[in-house]
Amino acid sequence: MQNKIMAINSGSSSLKFQLFVMPEEELIVKGLFERIGSKEGIEFSNTLNGEKKSLTIDGKTHEEAVAFLIEFLMKENVITSLDEITGVGHRVAHGGEFFKTSSLVEEKEEEMIRELSKLAPLHNPVNLAGIEAFKQALPGCSQVAVFDTSFHQTLPKSQYLYPIPMSYYREDKIRKYGFHGTSHQFVAEEAATVLGKPLEELKLITCHLGNGASICGIKNGQSQITSMGFTPIAGLMMGTRSGDLDPSVVTFIQEEKGLSATEMAQILNNQSGLLGVSELSNDFRDVIASAEENVEQSVVALDIFTSKVKQTIGAYAAELGGVDGIIFTAGIGENSAWVREKSCAGLEFLGAKIDSELNDKNAEIISTNDSTTKVLVIPTNEELMIAKETMAIISK
Ligand code: ADP
Repeated sequence: MQNKIMAINSGSSSLKFQLFVMPEEELIVKGLFERIGSKEGIEFSNTLNGEKKSLTIDGKTHEEAVAFLIEFLMKENVITSLDEITGVGHRVAHGGEFFKTSSLVEEKEEEMIRELSKLAPLHNPVNLAGIEAFKQALPGCSQVAVFDTSFHQTLPKSQYLYPIPMSYYREDKIRKYGFHGTSHQFVAEEAATVLGKPLEELKLITCHLGNGASICGIKNGQSQITSMGFTPIAGLMMGTRSGDLDPSVVTFIQEEKGLSATEMAQILNNQSGLLGVSELSNDFRDVIASAEENVEQSVVALDIFTSKVKQTIGAYAAELGGVDGIIFTAGIGENSAWVREKSCAGLEFLGAKIDSELNDKNAEIISTNDSTTKVLVIPTNEELMIAKETMAIISK
């Protein structure tokens, strides 16, 4: 039976959607609602049959946006009846320890996602708003939650526990969760196809380098180690996030400058990373353009960035006991040959040698033929992964 599956990424003022025919993985329509909540109306843009259109619609809420979307799909004959959409998959930021896999969302699951808002106050509530809106617009259609965290629920205790008093874990669930799970899983599955081997037989290191960035070590098809932590600030340097720091840096600045925890979190989340060091921009393209003109802070910012990526790959190869493939993905990983080359320079001892010509072309495999560790560029597609997960859950 043909299924039309909707993949949804709902933010505080936006809602992105893609509608797929599954299992063919054919994308029929995609689009975006922006400025949800603003007085001037909601901006709606969509791409259907290769044509991009934008308009402003009346309304202020996620419910109104979704009601409009369903009407639009009917009007454009994308669907002829509501029951053609057999599942809606929602990206949900935090599944805590409760959601070890994607899950059908019924009352109990909804309650649990709400409870987990404590761990993701900016994301889980708006993800729930998307779920609520689709429950109203498509009653009877299965709603599925696909979590950023659940792929990492296979981390061993030695990876997810922090060496602090265990009472914080027992009572407050302070531990490493890891994020970007859908992306790491998607590119790992794609890489296995490219390498012509079952995922379960490969040791892979996936580098998701976008505005947010994280790396994951995968063995037996499972996440074994990852760089984001209790929250997505941890690990690599990012566009505006600091990544890992000596914890004393945080407490010292707070005391010295008399900052509240909220103010400090704002600095680490929004004013650090590439932006903090370059004092120019959080956008990689701006920083690289300025580094090309030898602006020292931009050069240093990029050196910190690529050095952290390289260190993490090296450490994860050690933890996995070797590596068959290193995968680059997301905005920076897919597009910047320079970052890939710098991040892999020195990793020849692992058997990974970059072929500059292939790298410059953003080829699928960018390592030399004689590399025993292949280096790959795989575009991520979190929406398709959400659709695949949704399909798998509703077929059960
Ligand atoms: P997110 O989804 O986390 O917002 P993306 O995966 O879209 O982020 O990545 C955004 C980053 O990718 C930005 O820093 C942007 O500068 C960078 N980027 C996009 N295109 C290129 C390119 N051609 N070369 C280098 N960096 C790029």
